Amino acid sequence: MKKIHNFSAGPAILPSQAIQNSIEALKNFEGTGLSLIEVSHRGKEFVEVMNNARKLPLEILGLGSDYESIFLQGGASLQFCMIPFNFLNSKASYLKTGVWASNAIKEAGLLGSTQVVASSEDKNFSYIPKNYKINEDSDYFHCTSNNTIYGTQMHSFPECKIPMFCDMSSDIFSRKIDASKFDLIYAGAQKNMGPAGTTLVILKKSILEKITRKIPSMLDYRVHLSKESMYNTPSVFAVYCSLQVLKWIKDKGIEKIESDNRTKQQILYNEIDNNEFFEGTAMVEDRSWMNVTFVLKNEKHTEKFMQLCKEANIVGIKGHRSVGGFRASLYNALEIESVNALVEVMRNFKP
Ligand SMILES: *Cc1c(COP(=O)(O)O)cnc(C)c1O
Repeated sequence: MKKIHNFSAGPAILPSQAIQNSIEALKNFEGTGLSLIEVSHRGKEFVEVMNNARKLPLEILGLGSDYESIFLQGGASLQFCMIPFNFLNSKASYLKTGVWASNAIKEAGLLGSTQVVASSEDKNFSYIPKNYKINEDSDYFHCTSNNTIYGTQMHSFPECKIPMFCDMSSDIFSRKIDASKFDLIYAGAQKNMGPAGTTLVILKKSILEKITRKIPSMLDYRVHLSKESMYNTPSVFAVYCSLQVLKWIKDKGIEKIESDNRTKQQILYNEIDNNEFFEGTAMVEDRSWMNVTFVLKNEKHTEKFMQLCKEANIVGIKGHRSVGGFRASLYNALEIESVNALVEVMRNFKP
């Protein structure tokens, strides 16, 4: 099979080992002679999968026993609504840095009052606002660590006296962070952690005391936690495959993952900045390491460049419709070799 360089934004590239293990489990799960998707989620084999899948994120992020994690369904988008359902009692503060943050604000607005502490909408979300003030009388502050569509990323997080929540869907486990700054972290699996169909939520246990509203069971974090992420049937395949990715991350080590990610983005941004035909779309200091957005200075050449990429087995680099141009996603599983392949096409590009 020829090597395909997969720059898709999500669902996205996964470590081949994780996919191989998942194929095996689909055929014969833990020696049961049955497929992973045809056995009870309450059997001991799957319970162990779930337990390990819940443990590893905390280990990788260096979080202690004051945190717990659960695997839910409904995507990161359901978290936009679940968070305010559980924690918005009077007012919530949001950092508005893109489409996903805007969706989160919209959902919260249905349940209470929202305050946008800062927004980068004035420049098509091409930067991360800085020096904003977070209201201390808000129930929580919500931010998006990486803006998958616009190619910007928070390279530092604010000091925050109220609970801080973060949508890390597209850069979780991509770099070393101080995760203990956050009271809640969530991520749809399909960007950097696994297949679509499950969402990881990490919570500081003490935050649960703040819940006052009556909440439908499926939307209540306390219910999912008390049932160890098995209140209802979990997305067994997505959790299994995510566990394989988590093991790969742990074996590789977050330091090595971060240093490879640093190298990958350096190679690509360097080419964008030095190539006369291309330019980046995000403000340099806020550029994302995960989603690199760029355009051809002359749009006319787009089709030709896309064709050359195709010939070089490069897929998934078409930009999101709201930004245009190109977006190369450099998630953890993407190898440096693939970035080099893209850079070579750019370097040889003659319109
Ligand atoms: C993709 C993405 C989402 C939406 O995720 P779903 O799982 O499709 O709901 C939310 N936030 C960010 C930052 C994303 O990249």
